[in-house]
Amino acid sequence: MFEIKRERKLKVTKTEMLSSHFKRITFFSRDFFDFSENEKGAYLKLLFLKKEIGDKKLVRPYTIRNFRKKKLEIDIDFVIHQSSNGIATEWALKASPGDEIMVSGPGAKPDLKDDVDWIFFIGDMSSLPAISSNLEEIDTNKTGIIVIEIMSNEDKLKIRKPRNFQLHWVIKKKSSNHNELYDKVLSLKWLSGNPFVWVACEFDKMKKFRYYFHKEKKIKKEFTYISSYWKEGSNQEQHKKIKKIDNQQYTN
Ligand SMILES: Cc1cc2nc3c(=O)[nH]c(=O)nc-3n(C[C@H](O)[C@H](O)[C@H](O)COP(=O)(O)OP(=O)(O)OC[C@H]3O[C@@H](n4cnc5c(N)ncnc54)[C@H](O)[C@@H]3O)c2cc1C
Repeated sequence: MFEIKRERKLKVTKTEMLSSHFKRITFFSRDFFDFSENEKGAYLKLLFLKKEIGDKKLVRPYTIRNFRKKKLEIDIDFVIHQSSNGIATEWALKASPGDEIMVSGPGAKPDLKDDVDWIFFIGDMSSLPAISSNLEEIDTNKTGIIVIEIMSNEDKLKIRKPRNFQLHWVIKKKSSNHNELYDKVLSLKWLSGNPFVWVACEFDKMKKFRYYFHKEKKIKKEFTYISSYWKEGSNQEQHKKIKKIDNQQYTN
């Protein structure tokens, strides 16, 4: 997933708060000339140089929410999460027009299989950009269910989706250890036929969903994309190591 691609320099041209927990940043780069038109929904790796650790680059993956090839522009929607010390989030909070950043990528987008009856999208705010991008690209005749965990009511961003998709928002209670997202998903009545299951969220929640869909609902691995985008209490370097070990140990 994290293959090395050439590096590009991006310049911030515009910023906008979409809600108090989401900041959209628009970037321009002449280096986007060789991006294919359909990079929306793929991810880039933002590269941060940290002098204290010997000029090592810290990598943070982010989804390309929009790509406007003619203008050589992309949008990235950053979750302004509450944890301290997130290098990417701190950068995004302060970012303003003229700021520059290096990225590598784009990384591949997971394929949604065509030969299914419906699609189940499950995610949190970190994967809302990827889910929204997917929904804008799929056939408008498709059916499915979307469940997204957000921090507050105002994080219900406008989603352009095919008419026959149900949309459920779940608001995460601040001081709760409860897995509201999981409870909501389990409470829903399934549509008829075989689904493709797309899940991206926090690591421990991802594991619960993976068990539920693969082991309890017996959905074959090739009809699922189940991934963790971050891990509670761990930065992306720690998360990446844990994710690698988990992937090696996991048997479907
Ligand atoms: C393929 C892919 C695409 C992604 N796309 C997006 C995207 O479009 N927008 C986006 O906002 N994120 C996206 N993410 C998630 C993002 O890369 C992580 O949230 C990242 O860890 C944020 O970096 P940071 O420097 O702010 O925090 P880190 O330094 O990695 O972590 C610092 C602390 O913040 C906590 N933390 C990290 N992320 C979150 C979060 N989302 N919510 C609550 N606490 C958190 C950690 O648990 C840790 O305690 C994506 C991840 C992947 C793998």
